[in-house]
Amino acid sequence: MRLAVFDANRLGIVVSGGSGDEIVDVTEALPWAHDPDPLTAGWWRALCRDFAHARPALERAAAQGPRRPAADVVLRTPALGPSKIVAAASNYREHVTEMHGVQERTLGRVESWMMEFDVFLKAPSSLVGPGAEVVLPAAVVAAGHEVHHESELVVVIGAGGRDIPPDSALDHVLGFTAGLDITVRSPADRSRRKSYDSFSPVGPWIVTRDEVGDGSGLDIRLTCGGEVRQAVSTDELIVSVPRIVAYASSVMTLLPGDLIFTGAPPGVGPIAAGEKLDMTVSRIGNLTVTVTEEVVR
Ligand code: MN
Repeated sequence: MRLAVFDANRLGIVVSGGSGDEIVDVTEALPWAHDPDPLTAGWWRALCRDFAHARPALERAAAQGPRRPAADVVLRTPALGPSKIVAAASNYREHVTEMHGVQERTLGRVESWMMEFDVFLKAPSSLVGPGAEVVLPAAVVAAGHEVHHESELVVVIGAGGRDIPPDSALDHVLGFTAGLDITVRSPADRSRRKSYDSFSPVGPWIVTRDEVGDGSGLDIRLTCGGEVRQAVSTDELIVSVPRIVAYASSVMTLLPGDLIFTGAPPGVGPIAAGEKLDMTVSRIGNLTVTVTEEVVR
């Protein structure tokens, strides 16, 4: 099932129709009161936690409700008020190798601690949805720092938990979506470099786990101005999705609706104002954003 948030944070189910993707508004079928305010959207976290409970009513509504072309609605970030965005570092071998060159160029040295798999945090306020603008901060541009694209498979946590074993980690996953981990290359702290507003585009919707499996075997592809920049299979992940979830939960309690970026494939590189980033993950969908530069008045 494809779960979308659209327009005034309505809940939609995306179905394949004669003219392409169509969306059915299933908000009224939720077993909880809907609240469009992302700051108080407890319904969203309840849906992530208790999706199995809500699913039959949502499926009935999706089968009966009127369909609209998905292109006629505004898709929003399929994450409302997550407690955190966890992100994996150094999780594809070829990317780890390329980062030696990137760090020599942008830092003048190699930081060996950044070459090991680990997890870090991005600010949830950096989230934006499909079609959004990624805004390059004026101060970052003025300092001459490169800002890079990292196109990643993103895990959406369903039932949360802590100290989750790898063997049952998928029971805690609602589904998967696509995300761009936009990153400033500079000597600053990693969380700050990745937490500017608009630096976490996520979408276009969540595909539930039953349709995606364990997150392996998916093809990630990113083009910039029509040029292929990143193309990888998630089979290349050093630490698999279940093990990422288990590891993250050994550090911090995962809450329903939390997002986990699974790591950058090789091919990271600079973005500039005016460029269009077009990302596709097989079996999930397409996420497109445009790059702009902050205007200082
Ligand atoms: Mn990343």
